[in-house]
Amino acid sequence: MRIGVIGTGYVGLVTAVCLAELDHHVIGTDVVREKIDLALAGRPHIYEPGLEELLKKNLKEGRLTFYHDLDKTIKDSDVLFVCVSTPQRPDGRADMTYVEGVSRRIAENLNTYKLIVEKSTVPVRTSAWIKRVINLYRRNAEPFDVASNPEFLREGSAVEDFLHPDRIIIGVESAKAERILRQIYARFADKILVTNIDTAELIKHASNSFLAMKISFINLISELCEKTEADVELVARGMGLDPRIGPQFLRAGLGYGGSCFPKDVRALIHIGEEMGVDFGLLKEVDKINTRRIEIFINKIKQALWILREKKIALLGLSFKPHTDDIRNAPSIAVIRELQKEGAFLRLYDPQAMNNMKEVFPEKEPELVYCQSPYQALEGANAGLIITEWPEFQAMDLTRIKDIMSNPILIDGRNIFDPDEVRKQGIEYYSMGRK
Ligand code: NAD
Repeated sequence: MRIGVIGTGYVGLVTAVCLAELDHHVIGTDVVREKIDLALAGRPHIYEPGLEELLKKNLKEGRLTFYHDLDKTIKDSDVLFVCVSTPQRPDGRADMTYVEGVSRRIAENLNTYKLIVEKSTVPVRTSAWIKRVINLYRRNAEPFDVASNPEFLREGSAVEDFLHPDRIIIGVESAKAERILRQIYARFADKILVTNIDTAELIKHASNSFLAMKISFINLISELCEKTEADVELVARGMGLDPRIGPQFLRAGLGYGGSCFPKDVRALIHIGEEMGVDFGLLKEVDKINTRRIEIFINKIKQALWILREKKIALLGLSFKPHTDDIRNAPSIAVIRELQKEGAFLRLYDPQAMNNMKEVFPEKEPELVYCQSPYQALEGANAGLIITEWPEFQAMDLTRIKDIMSNPILIDGRNIFDPDEVRKQGIEYYSMGRK
């Protein structure tokens, strides 16, 4: 069995490498030439812990290769994992252009039976559309199946998540498709849940929206904490001790970002609208999340009053730690707001600066990239914690106090103990606690 992986972005590259690691023969392909050139050279185009080693190993052991040619990838594969992007359209719906395009190419290259597996996050009923497109564009009567196998990996621990999944959802409508997917995931037999395709597609959108809802819920509670003497960290801890609630995704802060939660919440709102189900609940989730940036900017203004020409250090640019991904990162919204106010920004992130330079090129003195958190904080009027990279938590507070022009920290992720920071003579603001 040969597996083709179409789209070698964050999900596709990890999928290709990890399927090879599970002893399958895999071909990855992408429209961006450079990604394939780098992959063939054993160098991932993304930062993901552990990926490079496994990429090199599986290339060397001959189970993994990459083609520039999509048609050839389709022809040479029995199973095709579709991992292309499904970005947000301006109206909030999922843009299915790439999935449709790939479906047409599969139709045109249907030389033998193929199992087409949706791994991208897609709206419920997408498989019906893929089947229709293939039937419209096919040139012969070769059989095919469509299945849904949504991906649950988290950037920053994607390899670990793929190789140690807590569930594998398989949405199928034929025994053959189920048999093939069970064979692919044989190593995780006890983690497999088989459903119909609509159910599998919906599980992904429902899961991401639920997690986003948890984050927005604690952020709303955090707003209330700021008006009272309550401490959101302790509220969350107290709630999380209840096993029905659990402690995860109850961190108040700058809100969720990334390439999944914001777009998946909005996509589900639109799927509901199209099908006559009102997801007002998720509209609130989205609104609360957007408000986090405003609340954070207000804290900066509360500390500095006028931001014009104030030197502000931003620590953390990626949407979460352990990744270089800046798609929908809160840092982007914060930078835009601070630029509007005329602040001078000093940016630092352990992995995401190259990506950020493409969005915000360096321009002295308005926006400067720094080589360490201390360099960013040196001479600054305020320091902002935007992403909770562990290296920020380990910073030397005495040194910070000494090098900043005004020792003021505004912590969007509650990484510090307020008493500890204040003891060092640093003025400290955080989210949902005094
Ligand atoms: P991405 O943008 O990193 O990767 C998509 C890749 O598809 C890109 O490299 C792009 O060049 C390629 N592509 C587009 N059209 C193509 C075509 N016609 N032929 C070949 N390649 C093509 O996106 P991603 O983060 O990997 O996400 C992919 C999908 O997986 C999305 O639907 C996303 O919602 C879902 N998902 C993402 C994550 C995550 O953490 N990133 C997790 C679970 C699910």
